Amino acid sequence: MGRIVGIDLGTTNSVVAVLEAGRPQVIANAEGMRTTPSVVGFTKDSELLVGQAARRQLVLNPRNTFANLKRFVGRAWDELDDSSLSVPYTIRANDRGNVRVACPQMEREYAPEELVASILRKLVDDASTYIGESIEAAVITVPAYFDDAQRQATRDAGRLAGLEVERILNEPTAAALAYGFDRSAVKRVLVFDLGGGTFDVSLLRIANGVFDVKATNGDTQLGGNDFDQRIVDWLAAAFQEHHGIDLRRDRQALQRLTEAAEKAKQELSGVASTPISLPFIATGADGPLHIETRLDRTTFESLCPDLLDRLLLPVQTALRDSGWAAEDVDDVVLVGGSTRMPMVQQLVRTLIPHEPCQSVNPDEVVAIGAAVQ
Ligand code: AMP
Repeated sequence: MGRIVGIDLGTTNSVVAVLEAGRPQVIANAEGMRTTPSVVGFTKDSELLVGQAARRQLVLNPRNTFANLKRFVGRAWDELDDSSLSVPYTIRANDRGNVRVACPQMEREYAPEELVASILRKLVDDASTYIGESIEAAVITVPAYFDDAQRQATRDAGRLAGLEVERILNEPTAAALAYGFDRSAVKRVLVFDLGGGTFDVSLLRIANGVFDVKATNGDTQLGGNDFDQRIVDWLAAAFQEHHGIDLRRDRQALQRLTEAAEKAKQELSGVASTPISLPFIATGADGPLHIETRLDRTTFESLCPDLLDRLLLPVQTALRDSGWAAEDVDDVVLVGGSTRMPMVQQLVRTLIPHEPCQSVNPDEVVAIGAAVQ
């Protein structure tokens, strides 16, 4: 019989984990990475790309590269808000009011589930190669606020990927399972999930292995990407001041700026200052131009105060909806790579008077919980 895996199908990144000798383990993809960008693309030669390779052509081939697909899974066209509609690729409604993604390169439209299925397929194929066994079934996680249609569409994506979907599991429940909270008698847990493009807060009451989602809140348009963008703007503004060239108008330069910004941001979670080097980023009247600079954590943090402010209200609203005071929360679980930023952790500490749980990698905790399930 084939194995069962746990899959965190994220808006920005996805992770797959399996139980090995009773212990959950994250499995690296074919590129050796433990997280796989949830991006699907088609090259100019109509080759299907999934993961990092697709992500690399996001800026250069924006009409044939599809990120953030999770926003469209199981949604009717008239349920979408304006911010979801502003993706660089074309989406439209079919005659039944369902969302369709147009791919000029392939000259066809896809249901979001079809494209998501190719992400699941890559995760499972790579995992299967790694563990040397076939994988037939999966537990797939979804946000706690997903409705029946969104859950069904996620199941459909699994089925299209050739998987039996054993269970659709709430992401905050998975995070709590990864910490073994199901074994405690009664616990009130706040799950603070800041990923690449979305922010979710969930309040869970766990009693004798039963999980009850008391309240959820969040911001579907706030994530690590917004922090990257602040660094992109900082670099581009300084360059424009010196050389009179706006790098954001040149797709190739923008792609490199975006990648360098994310790398700098991630490094600043561990060190106080980091170099940013982008040789040959543009050509001026006297030849090639370069970026050689440093960014320190204090400057980075001074670029983001309003982003931090936007994290406050959803937490306060979720607490109010659940009828809990901050002191009633027994544990805080950090989920999502963006909770590695010291300024975010600091903010969480000011909201809830408990040291947050972070012994499990925040970008892996949901997949690990899914594997445990
Ligand atoms: P996730 O969707 O949970 O994989 O989160 C992805 C987001 O986490 C991206 O915006 C990453 O840049 C961000 N991220 C990952 N590692 C770090 C880090 N060490 N410091 C800050 N952000 C990070």
